[in-house]
This record gives sequence, structure tokens and C-alpha cells, in this order.
Amino acid sequence: MTTHIALDDLAVAALVVDREGRVQAANTVAAELVGAPAEGLVGTRLDDLLVPVGPDRAPGAEPGPGGSDVCLRCADGRDVPVSVDARSSAGDSAGAGTKVMVLRPLAVGGRSDAMAGPSGIEVISTVSHELRSPLTSVKGYTSLLLSRWDRLSDEQKKTMLEQVHHDADRVTRLVNELLDISRLETGHLQLRFQTVVLPVIASSVVEKVALEYPELECGLDFVEGFPSVLADPDKVEQVLTNLVENAAKYASLKGMTVSGTVSGDSVAVAVADTGEGIPVADLPHIFTKFYRRDQGRPSGSGLGLWISRGLVEAHGGRLDAHSVVGRGSVFRFTLPLDANGRTPS
Ligand code: ADP
Repeated sequence: MTTHIALDDLAVAALVVDREGRVQAANTVAAELVGAPAEGLVGTRLDDLLVPVGPDRAPGAEPGPGGSDVCLRCADGRDVPVSVDARSSAGDSAGAGTKVMVLRPLAVGGRSDAMAGPSGIEVISTVSHELRSPLTSVKGYTSLLLSRWDRLSDEQKKTMLEQVHHDADRVTRLVNELLDISRLETGHLQLRFQTVVLPVIASSVVEKVALEYPELECGLDFVEGFPSVLADPDKVEQVLTNLVENAAKYASLKGMTVSGTVSGDSVAVAVADTGEGIPVADLPHIFTKFYRRDQGRPSGSGLGLWISRGLVEAHGGRLDAHSVVGRGSVFRFTLPLDANGRTPS
């Protein structure tokens, strides 16, 4: 498979820089960020465009850890803190020694504006709570198994071990979510693009969620010959699992559908439930990191939708929700048919 990246297909600011450190090309997002036309950036020295900042984010001070904390000097003289992810653009038309640099604006304190969330204390408290309950259960069941092994029936032992297994999965999932957060925020998320057959992934996700929710009734509605896409199968599965699980957790186990449609140069997958729906006032917040409508049961971290949206956007797609109170919700994500300009050879 060969890959070709069309800069303008990227949803993030990107520059192609030659071995002399001059901008060879810039995409529309980068041009918008700088406030100058993309052609105007061609030939600019990278040193004039990216200025190092210190921990206090004052231009001209020492670079931050890893040298990646820099400011982008905008056309109007403002310095916008950005994170920089540089990759050599091996073997493409840009020429040898060129680099593709992806720039992401950071809020003061190091977080991207769009991803800014609650304070560190709130984060620690949510994460600790979410980790504590499965670990308490693991500790309780294993203590019981060890102290009463001879007195427990095989059936009881099996039930307890199943619970321990399930709780260990919960801990792993939360830790993976936290790792995803740091990768998404630092721009270090790596996507492993492969040909992905969405109806197959959807069906296996529904089967897996049904192991936890045996009552689940979920229809699949994909037309025959639904086109495959280039995407990271693990990440697509993660997004779909989150949406189907949420529907099972917060809506209704019956009347759910996962459907696929094709429109123009993208495909869309929708998870529709027939639950209570989400009030209009809450809807804009559900994609915010750590946001939970109801802090009580069922438990959750408030990270799933935020991460899912980040993963979909990293593919060049979108994830949105529509909901009608009393009728249900539809979570729909798109993926480019030709993800990020890559084409199978
Ligand atoms: P978590 O499930 O861990 O709380 P998410 O980010 O996946 O985190 O979801 C955020 C919030 O959005 C949930 O707490 C819930 O209130 C709401 N939500 C998500 N999906 C649905 C759904 N299908 N129906 C109703 N509410 C939902």
C-alpha cells in the first residue's frame, strides 16, 4: 500500500518544511492559524515562524521539555503557544529531507483550547474514584477466594472470578483512556491505517457488548457492498464500543440500531437508541472531558465521548449527537472514504 497525504485534507495545521528549514507548503488550517494566505507562508524560515517559549510561555525564553513548546508567530504579531509534531516525509513528492510539521494550539498550561477541561484535583478525584471501585471489588473477591477456597462451590468460585476478570477489564480500559488523553493532547496519537470493513466491526462490537448486557437487542443496518474505508481498526472499534455501550448503559437495551450510510466522499455510522434522550441544555456538554450528566449510577469516567470525538477527528471525520427527550439519541460519526488523502495502491 502506498500513502499520499493531501495537506488540505488534514484537520490540523500542517507545514511541509525543507531541509534548509524553509516552509515549502502550508495547509489552509495553518494559514488560518497564522492569519496569512498559505502561499504567503511559502519560503518563510521556520525560525521566524516558530519561536521558543519557556515555562512562563514568554517568547524568547528556553524551549519547554523536549523542545516542543513553542509559539507560532502570527501575522498580527500575536504569539500563539503550539505543540509541534514533526515527521520526515519519506519518499513523497515533497523531496528528500523534508518534514511535515503538525501544529496544535495550546491553552496556557499546555492543554489545547478545545480540550481544556476541569482542574487537576477534579481529574484526580474522578480517576481515583473510577479506579477504586473495581479494585475494591477485586480485593474483596480475591480475599474471599483465598480465605474460603475449600468452603466455596465451583459455581461460586466461577462467579467471583468472572467479576474479578470484568473489574480488571474496567481498570485496563480506564488506564487506556488516560493514555489516549495524553496522546490526543500532545498530538502523539499514532493511527495504523488499514482497510476497515465497518459492518464487520459493528457486528463484533455488538456481540462483545452483548456479553455484558445479555438483554441487548441491537439491529445492524448496512447496505450490501458497504464501502470499506482506510482507518485504524482498533480506534474505530473503540469509538463504536463506546457508543453502543453508552446506548446500553444510559438508554434502553431494546430498539437500538447501528446503521451505515454513504454520502459523497465519506461514510457515516450512526448508533441510534430509544432511550430517554438528552436534554438540550446538556447536549453541548457531553463531549467535554469528564462531563457526566448524572454523577451517580451507572458509573463512568466522562471520558468516552471526548476520546471518541478526538479519535474520529484524528481520522479526518466528525462525531456529533442529536437527541429528542422522550424519543432517544443518535450518535453519528463520519470517516472519509479516502482517509486523510491516503489511497490504497
Ligand atoms: P461516561 O459514560 O463515562 O460517563 P461519556 O463521555 O461516554 O462518559 O458520556 C458522557 C455523558 O453523556 C454520560 O455521563 C451520559 O450522561 C451522557 N450520554 C452518553 N451517551 C448517552 C446516551 N446514549 N443516552 C443518554 N445519555 C448519554
